[in-house]
Amino acid sequence: MLYSELADTFDRLESTGGRLEMTSIMADFFRRVDPKELRNIVYLMQGKLHPDFYPQELGMADKLVLKAIAFTAGMPESKVEELWVKTGDPGEVAESLIGKKKQMTLFSEDLTFDRVVKGLTAIEGAEGKDSQDKKIKQLSNLMHDAGPVEARYLCRIVTGRMRVGAGAMTILDALAEAFAAKEDRPAIERAFNVTCDIGLVAETIAEGGMDAIRAIGVKVGSPVKVMLAERLPSIAEVVAKMGGRCAMEYKYDGIRVQAHIGKDGVKLFSRRLEDLTSNFPDIAQSLRTRCGCGEAIIEGECVAIHPETGFMLPFQTVTHRRRKDMKDVVRDVPVRIFMFDMLFADGKDLTGLPYPERRKALEDGFSIGGMVQMTTMKVVESPEEGERFFSSAIAARCEGIMAKSLAPESVYRAGSRGFLWIKYKKDYQQALTDSFDLAVVGAFYGMGKRAGRYGALLMAAFDPETGMFETVCKLGTGFDDAFLAGMPDLLDDGLSESKPASVEAEMVPDVWFEPTVVLEVVAAEITLSPIHTAARDVIKEGAGLGIRFPRFTGRVRDDKSPEQATSVDEIVRMYGMQSHDSDGISDGDDP
Ligand code: AMP
Repeated sequence: MLYSELADTFDRLESTGGRLEMTSIMADFFRRVDPKELRNIVYLMQGKLHPDFYPQELGMADKLVLKAIAFTAGMPESKVEELWVKTGDPGEVAESLIGKKKQMTLFSEDLTFDRVVKGLTAIEGAEGKDSQDKKIKQLSNLMHDAGPVEARYLCRIVTGRMRVGAGAMTILDALAEAFAAKEDRPAIERAFNVTCDIGLVAETIAEGGMDAIRAIGVKVGSPVKVMLAERLPSIAEVVAKMGGRCAMEYKYDGIRVQAHIGKDGVKLFSRRLEDLTSNFPDIAQSLRTRCGCGEAIIEGECVAIHPETGFMLPFQTVTHRRRKDMKDVVRDVPVRIFMFDMLFADGKDLTGLPYPERRKALEDGFSIGGMVQMTTMKVVESPEEGERFFSSAIAARCEGIMAKSLAPESVYRAGSRGFLWIKYKKDYQQALTDSFDLAVVGAFYGMGKRAGRYGALLMAAFDPETGMFETVCKLGTGFDDAFLAGMPDLLDDGLSESKPASVEAEMVPDVWFEPTVVLEVVAAEITLSPIHTAARDVIKEGAGLGIRFPRFTGRVRDDKSPEQATSVDEIVRMYGMQSHDSDGISDGDDP
């Protein structure tokens, strides 16, 4: 296949607004291409060469791309830079300069898709002291034979600026439309959720159809999207929703880890699919020695422990384990893992079993002790029993409880948030609502003491349906001096010249950011807002939902990707859980 066919499809997708139309453009294309090439095609649609959990990134520094464009176009770098500053988009620059050049070139070779994948792979893998030159050479080599549109997407891919709107959910829709029936869509999504590999799902369905998709199960070494909990505002409601009887576990305040214990060693993944093995080598080792069931996948919460008293320490302590430089940290920050689920054991996928059977398999599969513990659990049959268990969780320095359904249908639902698990935290007793994990999409310069630096942030929730980040508040409270001083370091990598395509906002900050950083925020109330865009028109025509008196808790949720921020749907449900004395519209912001 010629790469131009893919670039033309990107171009059509980009100029299309509606998701249905995008899906059918993609589906047509998927049907036409060789199934062998489909895997790489869907990775590239997302600007990648590998599944999400693959550690290497294709990022090429802007400076190098600029040089490659200048070299290919035979123009001074300063001219290219001028145009880049004007448009803010390397893709547009390449399109206007490289395309023209190509028309004048006599000797050019076909730019096949295969050649592009090989070139990008070489860019990704370039190492050593001349790695920058190698990258520039590879990119100009590809651009030399590229037409205008092809060059546009090459530059966007290598600089991580692919935004044709090809979110995973749209790709899954298109795969269903191309190779299966509408009712097969949930099974296709399940295959994605248990493998986290959209390329694998695409190749499997194109080659083997739905039978092959249904045969996909969890696999040691390939992370599974985590199951998530709903929330309710009181223990009584939790117990009632569970039908009067459920398991309750302590909700530990640490870092969630999915451990893959394989023949060749143990790998730990975060809920963002990052590899955490080097952060918790002691946990990996203990799990290996205490596991008595061959290969296994388990989940647990890693919590920091006071070295002398053995008490659990707050979340902030265990985050020291996330440092890049781990020298001395393993010794200085002792941890334990509290295991709460088992997804695979002894060659069997356990995700389809009900919770009590998975819990039993977990208890039987490990010799519990030392750093490897089970979460404290009790079967609860009344709200009073639930309240007592909750109090004991708080006394043990946990943040609340996780109620878990005992019903036959209480399977492990990879990647889904539902009422099979319900969380209840002590925060709920203090504020009207739970905490929110919100993505930073903009910043406002401060005044007075904060003059010259960022003083407040524009925060957004995520809508998985549309793939958009929608604003909910301007956050200016809860920042200490160290956080204020560190804000540029934390945020500036994501600086964007203009409002990012994935952000829906009416409020205009002084600077925009691509959503990458997630902060935990508590608030007093969710209100209708004329300015914020979350759930616009859902509760009331012309109004969105905003959160009032937001305050940063001090916790940067670097364990969550922006797409794992609190969803717009959750905010709508939390709004529904509040009592509404009036439906007046507030500005939704800290005054
Ligand atoms: P939240 O991050 O507030 O949505 O709460 C869900 C998180 O609680 C999970 O992702 C786990 O990291 C954590 N957690 C702590 N204890 C448990 C438990 N016993 N069962 C499940 N998740 C737990």
